[in-house]
Amino acid sequence: TGQMRNIEPLMSNPNFKFINHDIIKPLNFEERIDEIYNLACPASPPHYQKDPVFTINTCYLGMTNMLELAKKNKCKILQASTSEVYGDPLEHPQKETYWGHVNPIGPRSCYDEGKRVAETLVLNYRLQHNLRAKIVRIFNTYGPRMLFNDGRVVSNFIVQALKNDPITIYGDGSQTRSFCYVDDLIRGFLACMGKEGFYGPVNLGNPVETTILELANIIIEMTGSKSKLVKQPLPQDDPTRRNPDISIAKKELGWEPKIVLREGLAKTIADFDARLKAGEKAY
Ligand code: UDP
Repeated sequence: TGQMRNIEPLMSNPNFKFINHDIIKPLNFEERIDEIYNLACPASPPHYQKDPVFTINTCYLGMTNMLELAKKNKCKILQASTSEVYGDPLEHPQKETYWGHVNPIGPRSCYDEGKRVAETLVLNYRLQHNLRAKIVRIFNTYGPRMLFNDGRVVSNFIVQALKNDPITIYGDGSQTRSFCYVDDLIRGFLACMGKEGFYGPVNLGNPVETTILELANIIIEMTGSKSKLVKQPLPQDDPTRRNPDISIAKKELGWEPKIVLREGLAKTIADFDARLKAGEKAY
């Protein structure tokens, strides 16, 4: 759900090669591979719900194909899993040992259950085939270059605020998320991949919990927007609270987020503002 222009600056780099391939189909890759990061799968509810069967196939068949590729190359592989494996959690904050509270036949299940089975595959390829296969569980992440119509809360609110359009609060806005800036997350990926003998799963997220209403008000204030808040129905199975326990990441990887919400939002707002001014379509 990105766009080609996001990787344009890399195209002239001789060490960079872009392959347009659907990982639901096996990938024959001739060059030697050292590390695979599997980030394939839309992560925004409206996007992953558009074609739920495709989403679950990406998680299951895609993961199988990537693990097979890692096995063939005897290389390391890191799976971008998600806090969604915890579902609508009954334990706060969420520790990696928590099994989760997931509706297997709900509108989010194509993603939640897809990511859960992907974790099961990673674990069993590691145990059965001695593969160095790792799992990180990503909590809500945001940053520059997200699609305007990504559909997740940070990008929605920033576009709405910059256009002075109504800010869409689903439910009463008392639900919480913990927002991690993209650069922090990437450092976490690299730390996990780099740690020999460590396989996770490990939570990567910012432990500062924010209500959706607070987020809306911060973004209105930071953009100087005239937007009003409008309430819309809460989507089915929308998690009430989400907050990572990052003790394992701290202890095993020496990782914790460095970028506080307002700092990350400032960078994201600046990017969105520049793109809107350059004529990129908002809706
Ligand atoms: N949300 C909202 N307005 C929006 C988009 C999302 O109030 O325009 C809420 C949504 O109901 C959820 C939270 O913001 O409670 C985070 O939603 P998002 O889709 O960003 O991520 P996820 O639910 O997967 O954590």
